[in-house]
Amino acid sequence: MTSPSDLIQGFHRFREQHFADEDALYKQLVQEGQTPKILVVACCDSRVDPALVLDSAPGDLFVIRNVANLVPPAESRSGGRHGTSAALEYGVRVLGVEHIIVLGHAHCGGIRSLLIGGGPREQATYINSWMRVAEDAQKKVLKEFPNAAIELQERACEQQAILSSLENLMTFEWISERVETGKLALHGWYFDIEHGQLLRYDATTHDFTAV
Ligand SMILES: [Zn+2]
Repeated sequence: MTSPSDLIQGFHRFREQHFADEDALYKQLVQEGQTPKILVVACCDSRVDPALVLDSAPGDLFVIRNVANLVPPAESRSGGRHGTSAALEYGVRVLGVEHIIVLGHAHCGGIRSLLIGGGPREQATYINSWMRVAEDAQKKVLKEFPNAAIELQERACEQQAILSSLENLMTFEWISERVETGKLALHGWYFDIEHGQLLRYDATTHDFTAV
């Protein structure tokens, strides 16, 4: 098991092995600031680190991670602390990213709790409240596959929740305007952690296919 002191040793290895090699890159990123072109919405899950899975470099990805990689719809700014929406606003309006990827994944604990209840969801009202973002996806899947095995329902719901998040992205006017004028593209990707595959949503076939 990794401990905090392991991580400090890890930081020293990073300094020696990576920071020294990438010194010029870090200097440039500090002097010129970050200019990522891609924003990724990923899950908090410890197995699904977008920078690692997509083998990207520092400065490449502006990453938002939350439970089940959900994007809530645009809502009134009063009340609520809209962490995901604030990060989206920064990535899109300030950094001017050109792509947003919603990166879902197989065996997502957040989605599982939506389908089978139990676990932290019944004790944790923050998770309960947050997972309501994916309730339409859950209802659609249960209607479409009422008697399917839970594994199939989970996979369908993980993928349907990505589509709900893509729809919700379009409720932010500064996103829909940019999408409609071709300045911003939205993508739904799904990391199949079990089979080591990356699937991409194809809007013409309405299906996720391996890349
Ligand atoms: Zn997850």
